[in-house]
Amino acid sequence: MSDFFETKIDFLRGVGPQRARLLNQELNIHTYHELIRYFPFRHEDRTQIHPIAELEEDMPYLQVKGQIVNWETIGEGFKKRLVATFSDGTGAMELLWFQGVQWQLKNLKLGAEYLVFGKPQYFNGKFSLVHPEIELVTNIAQQTGYLQPVYGLTEKIKKKFISSKIIGKMIQELLEISYQHIEENLSEALIKEHKLISRRDALVQIHYPKNANWLRHATNRLKFEELFFLQLKILHQQQNKKIRYKGQMLIKTELLTQFYTEHLPFSLTNAQKRVVKEICKDMASGQQMNRLLQGDVGSGKTIVAFLAMLMAVDNGAQACLVAPTEILAEQHYQGLKEFTDKMGITIDLLTGSTRTKNRRVLHGRLENGNLKILVGTHALFEDKVQFENLGLCIIDEQHRFGVAQRSKLWNKNPEVVPHILVMTATPIPRTLAMTLYGDLEVSVIDELPAGRKPIKTAHRYDAHRLRVFGFIKEEIKKGRQIYMVYPLIEESEKLSYKNLMDGYESVARAFPDAQISILHGQMSSVDKDYEMQRFIRKETHIMVATTVIEVGVNVPNASVMVIENSEKFGLAQLHQLRGRVGRGAEQSYCILMTDVKLSKEAKVRLETMVRTTDGFEIAEVDLKLRGPGNMMGTQQSGTMDLVIADLAKDASILQTAREAAKIIIEDDLNLQKPENLPLRVYLQKSAKQENYWSRIS
Ligand code: ADP
Ligand code: MG
Repeated sequence: MSDFFETKIDFLRGVGPQRARLLNQELNIHTYHELIRYFPFRHEDRTQIHPIAELEEDMPYLQVKGQIVNWETIGEGFKKRLVATFSDGTGAMELLWFQGVQWQLKNLKLGAEYLVFGKPQYFNGKFSLVHPEIELVTNIAQQTGYLQPVYGLTEKIKKKFISSKIIGKMIQELLEISYQHIEENLSEALIKEHKLISRRDALVQIHYPKNANWLRHATNRLKFEELFFLQLKILHQQQNKKIRYKGQMLIKTELLTQFYTEHLPFSLTNAQKRVVKEICKDMASGQQMNRLLQGDVGSGKTIVAFLAMLMAVDNGAQACLVAPTEILAEQHYQGLKEFTDKMGITIDLLTGSTRTKNRRVLHGRLENGNLKILVGTHALFEDKVQFENLGLCIIDEQHRFGVAQRSKLWNKNPEVVPHILVMTATPIPRTLAMTLYGDLEVSVIDELPAGRKPIKTAHRYDAHRLRVFGFIKEEIKKGRQIYMVYPLIEESEKLSYKNLMDGYESVARAFPDAQISILHGQMSSVDKDYEMQRFIRKETHIMVATTVIEVGVNVPNASVMVIENSEKFGLAQLHQLRGRVGRGAEQSYCILMTDVKLSKEAKVRLETMVRTTDGFEIAEVDLKLRGPGNMMGTQQSGTMDLVIADLAKDASILQTAREAAKIIIEDDLNLQKPENLPLRVYLQKSAKQENYWSRIS
């Protein structure tokens, strides 16, 4: 049975093949379904008419009503323009046209009553509207006032004279002929419980609301619907996975207890304890663990990872830890080796720089089960790397890896899929985590180990560089080490490099007695490693670097982080960089250097950094500034094509929608109950487009 909404827009009155093609190409609108869901991005308030006498500078778009009392054309040829004097009895203003002058001259009527809409500009003591929307009052079908939808258009569409109004008329036509075809897709119970308006009302009112109140209800209903179905899918997927994938039952805890009582170098924070418990429970459940571990920089995720590895090893399985850079893999390896040596457990490192000869030996030891723990970079994803019995994969700093890579690890145990623990130091706001990682359980370490001194953060202008350098000298005298980070210049690697080298030279000049390391992306990993090791061994005082040091690196003696051109960094990155210091017992500092000229957004970022060290708070600000589409890792998710809901702004609707979806999934996984029929019908329909839901039924 063909669905009415699958009809091609070509068949709609007022569209026709030419316009249809434009809408296909420019706005990706092919069917009635797509047209009706082409929501306006705002409404213009045509309910108010402003007296000209009361206009002020900097007013938004508004409406005036009056008559054209005279006009003249000024200039010649290219510069010709039409200037009309428009009066409403309270005062006069100018209407200006630079294009279509002849057409306006032919059509405008002196003395007729017009409604004119535009954004007033103030110049030389006069208000004017440039290229206003203008309409004879008699044409406006007796409407005393209404909210006019405004639709997004491309340049090409505008050139072909398809205005927002014309789109609006098409949609009006569509709404009229399709009204009785619009089917409710939520159950009565949901509508009642969440006080929603019907789908029919919502689709009409989102385009042509009777008033602001209806618009709000329509928006709310459609956002809820969108987020609800998204969550329904995610939760369904999650539930299905649980059923489909068995995991190894890892229940022995002798090694864990032994390490805990004999070798643990500090006592765990309560948050760490809680998370370890959650992980142990998962791994002993007989189902595959898929868990995201969020914990701010320095919150102590590594030790948690190690305890999980002990569980795997204790039960005869192997474990691996994947890090995004060689430096980080190396550091993890060194850190974990101290523990494993004490416990008599085998461990090795595999990165891109591992020699072929060593690699062959390593592969063999992995396959015969001699090697219990493998730490490495993405080199570990290669098909050649096979395990005897891989039981647990830990991925550090998740956002560097794609979903596809994650799934590669699954195939490394053909018998039972390994447990997966994804660790990220990038705090993801709850709303985003729920959607992006909806298929993962989430654990949070929301507590830093005791005794840490909060990092002091300051914003300084370049003009005060000498004072900053003076401060750095004092810190070096006290035996501390310093990071100085330079931004990558996106357009050009060469420029970035030059920028860094200039920085290096000026630092070298300012600190003639200091030893300076340098680290950047173009260095070979051997050189990088060498420089890093020198810094770790305290042979150098200052580390001049690009953002390659951003992730994970741990040098407890480094107490000052200077970020040059910090206005060029995103919040998440600034937070990550700052996290490189404050890892030891000493008071640490972060200094954000900038030019005096700062954009509004840059100011917000800097103020946020100075105000708080709470990664989650920073992530919320970041989400608001940049929107979810730009948050790291979101490109890969496919769940981001939300039409109306906004993850940054609709957190509370999302929360409600998720809870509602959860109740339904728990009660009726495959939506077989009669009251859930509308949900199932709708999902199956939209599956045709998304090719997702086809897996059920
Ligand atoms: P991250 O979560 O950023 O990966 P790490 O695991 O690298 O953090 O831990 C940061 C530092 O804190 C390490 O030096 C680690 O030994 C130390 N640490 C971790 N947990 C605790 C704790 N409970 N008490 C004291 N120090 C801890
Ligand atoms: Mg870490």
